[in-house]
Amino acid sequence: MMTLSRGDRLVLASHNQGKIAEFEALLEETGIELVSAAALGLAEPDETADSFAGNARLKAHAAARAADLPALADDSGFCVGALDGQPGVYSARWAGQPRDYAAAMRRMHDEAGAGLEADPTAWFVAVLCLAWPDGSDATFEGRIDGHFVWPPRGSGGHGYDPVFVPNGDARSFAEMLESEKNAISHRARAFAKFREACLSLPKN
Ligand code: IMP
Repeated sequence: MMTLSRGDRLVLASHNQGKIAEFEALLEETGIELVSAAALGLAEPDETADSFAGNARLKAHAAARAADLPALADDSGFCVGALDGQPGVYSARWAGQPRDYAAAMRRMHDEAGAGLEADPTAWFVAVLCLAWPDGSDATFEGRIDGHFVWPPRGSGGHGYDPVFVPNGDARSFAEMLESEKNAISHRARAFAKFREACLSLPKN
């Protein structure tokens, strides 16, 4: 597998400033020069795939082709066991436009109904895709399992954090410090796999 080293340029296939800042922080110590699709003025492809990996691949390949550079994309979402894994890849769409996560969490709770007692499981998934201008790629999945809680708890985090308690903890993601969540999150787990496989860096 092709790897990235100190000084290489990498496009982050995102227009979301929060996500760009998060990846800048994750890659800071690597010496890899991160440039965002937004800064390059690249178009944002529609997320038309029906899987996290499909959407991550679609975004990464579009940016790698357009910029003629390696590109990294991620796709993530929240899955509820009692809803057969929904909203999944449609997590952002469930929150509507403008985003209303309080309404989306209530809809999950109402649609799952008594099913939540039988199956309280929930999980977050993140898939990272590194695509190269020659059309090759590698994908990395991170997942964190836990359960759906109602009512929502905590004021930290974002999105669906208030209704998710990870296994092994009693607090929701929204009740944790950002650093505590970031140490165990689906995104951190996917990033650790990407780092191991694609970055030729001294181990720390
Ligand atoms: P995307 O990966 O930017 O397409 O967003 C995925 C959707 O899943 C968004 O609606 C996010 O709010 C939600 N999501 C992804 N990761 C998290 C998380 O760590 N906490 C809460 N919501 C998340």
